[in-house]
Amino acid sequence: MNIHRILERARLRPTFPRVLVLEFFQEHARDHFTAEQVDKLLNEDMRNMSLATVYRVPGQLVNADLLSGVAFGDGRMVYELNDGARHDHLVCTVCGRIYEFFDAEIEARQQSVANSLDFAVTGRQLVLFGMCSDCRKSDAQANALARR
Ligand SMILES: [Zn+2]
Ligand SMILES: [Zn+2]
Repeated sequence: MNIHRILERARLRPTFPRVLVLEFFQEHARDHFTAEQVDKLLNEDMRNMSLATVYRVPGQLVNADLLSGVAFGDGRMVYELNDGARHDHLVCTVCGRIYEFFDAEIEARQQSVANSLDFAVTGRQLVLFGMCSDCRKSDAQANALARR
Protein backbone atom coordinates (compact mmCIF):
# COMPACT_ATOMS: atom_id res chain seq x y z
CA MET A 1 0.00 0.00 0.00
CA ASN A 2 1.21 3.46 -0.71
CA ILE A 3 2.55 5.53 2.16
CA HIS A 4 -0.04 8.27 1.78
CA ARG A 5 -2.85 5.72 2.03
CA ILE A 6 -1.28 4.08 5.08
CA LEU A 7 -1.04 7.45 6.84
CA GLU A 8 -4.56 8.43 5.89
CA ARG A 9 -5.92 5.13 7.12
CA ALA A 10 -4.12 5.77 10.42
CA ARG A 11 -5.85 9.16 10.48
CA LEU A 12 -2.62 11.10 10.05
CA ARG A 13 -2.29 13.84 7.50
CA PRO A 14 0.42 12.67 5.07
CA THR A 15 2.82 15.54 5.65
CA PHE A 16 6.22 15.41 4.01
CA PRO A 17 8.13 14.55 7.24
CA ARG A 18 5.70 11.74 8.09
CA VAL A 19 5.92 10.25 4.61
CA LEU A 20 9.70 10.49 4.67
CA VAL A 21 10.10 8.92 8.12
CA LEU A 22 7.62 6.09 7.52
CA GLU A 23 9.23 5.36 4.17
CA PHE A 24 12.61 5.22 5.89
CA PHE A 25 11.38 2.66 8.43
CA GLN A 26 9.77 0.57 5.70
CA GLU A 27 13.08 0.48 3.87
CA HIS A 28 14.82 -0.63 7.07
CA ALA A 29 12.13 -2.94 8.34
CA ARG A 30 14.36 -5.04 10.60
CA ASP A 31 16.31 -2.18 12.18
CA HIS A 32 15.98 0.07 15.20
CA PHE A 33 16.79 3.78 15.17
CA THR A 34 16.72 6.70 17.60
CA ALA A 35 15.16 9.97 16.44
CA GLU A 36 18.69 11.42 16.21
CA GLN A 37 19.77 8.61 13.88
CA VAL A 38 16.72 9.09 11.69
CA ASP A 39 17.50 12.77 11.54
CA LYS A 40 21.12 12.11 10.61
CA LEU A 41 20.31 9.47 8.01
CA LEU A 42 17.62 11.59 6.39
CA ASN A 43 19.76 14.67 6.65
CA GLU A 44 19.76 15.54 2.95
CA ASP A 45 15.98 15.51 2.66
CA MET A 46 15.34 16.95 6.10
CA ARG A 47 17.63 19.92 5.79
CA ASN A 48 14.89 22.52 5.72
CA MET A 49 12.84 20.96 8.50
CA SER A 50 13.21 21.96 12.11
CA LEU A 51 14.72 19.36 14.41
CA ALA A 52 11.62 19.60 16.59
CA THR A 53 9.48 18.46 13.67
CA VAL A 54 11.73 15.55 12.89
CA TYR A 55 11.81 14.47 16.54
CA ARG A 56 8.03 14.63 16.88
CA VAL A 57 7.27 12.42 13.88
CA PRO A 58 8.34 8.99 15.24
CA GLY A 59 6.16 9.52 18.33
CA GLN A 60 3.18 10.40 16.16
CA LEU A 61 3.73 7.26 14.11
CA VAL A 62 3.93 5.19 17.32
CA ASN A 63 0.60 6.64 18.49
CA ALA A 64 -0.87 5.60 15.16
CA ASP A 65 0.54 2.04 15.62
CA LEU A 66 2.68 2.37 12.50
CA LEU A 67 5.95 2.29 14.45
CA SER A 68 6.85 0.72 17.79
CA GLY A 69 8.91 2.58 20.34
CA VAL A 70 11.19 0.72 22.71
CA ALA A 71 12.60 2.50 25.78
CA PHE A 72 16.14 1.37 26.44
CA GLY A 73 16.64 2.36 30.06
CA ASP A 74 19.27 5.05 29.60
CA GLY A 75 16.55 7.42 28.37
CA ARG A 76 17.18 6.37 24.83
CA MET A 77 14.12 5.56 22.77
CA VAL A 78 14.48 3.53 19.61
CA TYR A 79 11.86 3.06 16.96
CA GLU A 80 11.12 0.30 14.51
CA LEU A 81 8.45 -0.52 11.98
CA ASN A 82 5.42 -2.08 13.64
CA ASP A 83 4.77 -5.10 11.45
CA GLY A 84 2.41 -6.63 13.99
CA ALA A 85 4.87 -9.42 14.80
CA ARG A 86 5.61 -9.47 18.52
CA HIS A 87 9.18 -9.72 19.70
CA ASP A 88 11.41 -8.77 22.60
CA HIS A 89 14.88 -7.28 22.68
CA LEU A 90 18.38 -7.88 24.01
CA VAL A 91 20.54 -4.75 24.13
CA CYS A 92 24.33 -4.70 24.40
CA THR A 93 25.09 -1.78 26.72
CA VAL A 94 28.63 -1.50 25.33
CA CYS A 95 28.21 -1.35 21.55
CA GLY A 96 24.46 -0.72 21.45
CA ARG A 97 23.74 -3.71 19.26
CA ILE A 98 20.11 -4.82 19.46
CA TYR A 99 18.98 -8.42 19.10
CA GLU A 100 15.40 -9.50 18.66
CA PHE A 101 13.88 -12.68 19.97
CA PHE A 102 10.51 -14.28 20.35
CA ASP A 103 9.75 -16.90 22.97
CA ALA A 104 6.27 -18.38 23.00
CA GLU A 105 6.71 -19.59 26.58
CA ILE A 106 7.53 -16.09 27.86
CA GLU A 107 4.52 -14.73 25.97
CA ALA A 108 2.24 -17.33 27.50
CA ARG A 109 3.64 -16.80 31.02
CA GLN A 110 3.09 -13.04 30.78
CA GLN A 111 -0.47 -13.59 29.68
CA SER A 112 -1.18 -16.02 32.49
CA VAL A 113 0.33 -13.63 35.08
CA ALA A 114 -1.95 -10.88 33.76
CA ASN A 115 -4.95 -13.24 33.78
CA SER A 116 -4.28 -14.31 37.35
CA LEU A 117 -4.39 -10.62 38.38
CA ASP A 118 -7.46 -9.99 36.23
CA PHE A 119 -5.39 -7.48 34.30
CA ALA A 120 -6.10 -6.48 30.70
CA VAL A 121 -2.76 -5.98 28.96
CA THR A 122 -2.60 -3.07 26.52
CA GLY A 123 1.14 -2.95 26.02
CA ARG A 124 4.25 -4.81 26.95
CA GLN A 125 8.02 -4.49 26.77
CA LEU A 126 10.73 -6.89 27.70
CA VAL A 127 14.32 -5.74 27.27
CA LEU A 128 17.35 -7.64 28.50
CA PHE A 129 20.52 -5.59 28.99
CA GLY A 130 24.03 -6.96 28.92
CA MET A 131 27.12 -7.53 26.82
CA CYS A 132 27.15 -9.21 23.42
CA SER A 133 29.72 -11.93 22.73
CA ASP A 134 31.93 -9.60 20.62
CA CYS A 135 32.12 -7.05 23.42
CA ARG A 136 32.84 -9.74 26.02
CA LYS A 137 35.64 -11.05 23.81
CA SER A 138 37.28 -7.66 23.36
CA ASP A 139 36.78 -7.01 27.08
CA ALA A 140 38.58 -10.26 27.92
CA GLN A 141 41.38 -9.34 25.51
CA ALA A 142 41.77 -5.91 27.08
CA ASN A 143 41.92 -7.49 30.53
CA ALA A 144 44.52 -10.00 29.39
CA LEU A 145 46.66 -7.19 27.97
CA ALA A 146 46.30 -5.16 31.17
CA ARG A 147 47.54 -8.14 33.22
CA ARG A 148 50.74 -8.58 31.20
ZN1 LIG B 1 28.33 -5.36 22.13
ZN1 LIG C 1 12.69 -4.92 17.42
